[in-house]
Amino acid sequence: MTKLQQAILEILKNSKDHFTAEDVFWALKPQFPKLALGTVYRNLNYFSDQKMIRRVYRADAPDFYEWNTKPHDHAVCIKCGVTSDLFVPDLKDFLKSQILCDIVSFDLNISYICPECSGKNFETEEE
Ligand SMILES: [Zn+2]
Ligand SMILES: [Zn+2]
Repeated sequence: MTKLQQAILEILKNSKDHFTAEDVFWALKPQFPKLALGTVYRNLNYFSDQKMIRRVYRADAPDFYEWNTKPHDHAVCIKCGVTSDLFVPDLKDFLKSQILCDIVSFDLNISYICPECSGKNFETEEE
């Protein structure tokens, strides 16, 4: 594994966050000034193909990549974009019972307004 590949994995491993390829790119840029965004994409997709990380498909936004490969779904705040992990037990079985055949994979993305954004009235002046 190259130094760059290790660095990409480190970023995901050290955070519970969900990263776009661009997030990873900017995080690595100081360390790898010649880095190209396409290289980051290629490596992230390679790692997700290897099941080392998870790729979260999103219809109208760049895909997320994350360290947590355990099955779970996501709720995304439409205001600030913060992404929370959700685990809905038996969801797959329920979907299967509706579709009446096997499900290869699915991604559930719930849009919501997070508590912090819905409480924006209480915003303080501090930075
Ligand atoms: Zn929010
Ligand atoms: Zn997640």
